[in-house]
Amino acid sequence: MTDHYQSFVSSPVGRLFVKNLGLPDPTKLERWTEGAPVVDGTVVTGGSGRLGKALTVALDNLGVSNVGVAPEGEKFKALVFDATGITHSTDLIALQQFFTPLMRSLTSNARVLVLGTVPELVEDKAERVAQRALEGFTRSLGKEIGRGSTVNLVYVAPGAEETIESTLSFFLSPKSAYVSGQVARLGATGTTEAAPVADPAKPLTGKVAIVTGASRGIGEQIARVLHRDGATVLGIDVPQAASELQSLMKELDGDHLTLDITGKDAPQRIAQHVKTKFGQVHAVVHNAGITRDKKLANMGEDRWSSVIAVNLTAPERISRELLDQKLIEDNGRIVGVSSIAGIAGNVGQTNYAASKAGVIGLVDSLADDLDDGITINAVAPGFIITQMTAAVPFATREVGQRMNAMSQGGLPVDVAEAIAWYLSPGSTAVNGNVVRVCGQMMLGA
Ligand code: NAD
Repeated sequence: MTDHYQSFVSSPVGRLFVKNLGLPDPTKLERWTEGAPVVDGTVVTGGSGRLGKALTVALDNLGVSNVGVAPEGEKFKALVFDATGITHSTDLIALQQFFTPLMRSLTSNARVLVLGTVPELVEDKAERVAQRALEGFTRSLGKEIGRGSTVNLVYVAPGAEETIESTLSFFLSPKSAYVSGQVARLGATGTTEAAPVADPAKPLTGKVAIVTGASRGIGEQIARVLHRDGATVLGIDVPQAASELQSLMKELDGDHLTLDITGKDAPQRIAQHVKTKFGQVHAVVHNAGITRDKKLANMGEDRWSSVIAVNLTAPERISRELLDQKLIEDNGRIVGVSSIAGIAGNVGQTNYAASKAGVIGLVDSLADDLDDGITINAVAPGFIITQMTAAVPFATREVGQRMNAMSQGGLPVDVAEAIAWYLSPGSTAVNGNVVRVCGQMMLGA
């Protein structure tokens, strides 16, 4: 699947059009390749607060070269600002003082990360106001930074300082190529304890991950990335997709199960398979999804029911069965795949948006209750170039691809990388999050 517009604007004639008509000019996004450093360049750190020490330790562990004072005339790949020391609105000036002089010294595909304190956990009223203000700053800078660069905010709960490494590794590296204007929370619910990662290059070694809808599109890429990170993937898909699923799982040394996840006994069959083959799993990624678009005035009951059944009821039932039978191991992971449509709504998608908003509800409803260090999070993809979006009419597709801060659609690997971050054993405090993988789409932002 290619982005024809992006190929066109990279051609000599296309460049002329971009220049003269002011057309969007998407920057080629850098993606992470195996063996590449977390950050290919220098990071400038700034601000002062309770994260200082943890930040230095985490950056050193990640092998990221960082400086506290930016040398004149150099270019930087990332800026990280510890804003946890900002306790009053008048202190917000520190953002301007740190960032403004550095904005012209960034490379393309740069990373900006602001670290704050989870506002809801701050007792002091003035501090809570100031911490909440960081969101507006981050989202605006994300919209103006350009050149394939991203800007994100990570709120760290008091006590969760030592857990930041896996999250820094995601947001500072090319793994977050299509994630911008996002707010992640660490330790807001669940544990604030850190867990060691034995082999950072293969953090999922020895772990089993279930991926539904694994035969193609985003699911296939999730399976590939989790395998890259060392996991054994149990891919699930419908019988019609059996041969694609089998050959992919063979390639990835994984395991497969063909069934319709909406089947009455599907949760029990998955549980039985897990029990006999693996004993327990580290993670379940509820990726399988369908669309059956129609305006509500023309919506038949079958379109409504099939979408809710695949996208929402099946993830609810399968998660429940695995949890009840204790088939998810300690420090395990549940991941939902929501959608921008579930956040912003979309014409012709009342059924789909209801199901995808429900996935966010599933995250909210379980995040506070899970025991044994199990977390639940979701990704909300924007416009990702797959067979699902190839079915979207041309004009809508073009608008979908351009209406974001990156002026382009994302790739399945971008969604997969966000899921791999959630699955990392180091992401103990990443719980209850819904992170959009949408290039900071204007819709519902
Ligand atoms: P896709 O249609 O290419 O793949 C979906 C997979 O799910 C297929 O392999 C399909 O066979 C499987 N599946 C469908 N119903 C199933 C069932 N009942 N039982 C088992 N497997 C079933 O779609 P995609 O674009 O790769 O999307 C993957 C997920 O991402 C979906 O949940 C989708 O809603 C979500 N999403 C996609 C986009 C996008 O832009 N592509 C945007 C937002 C959200």
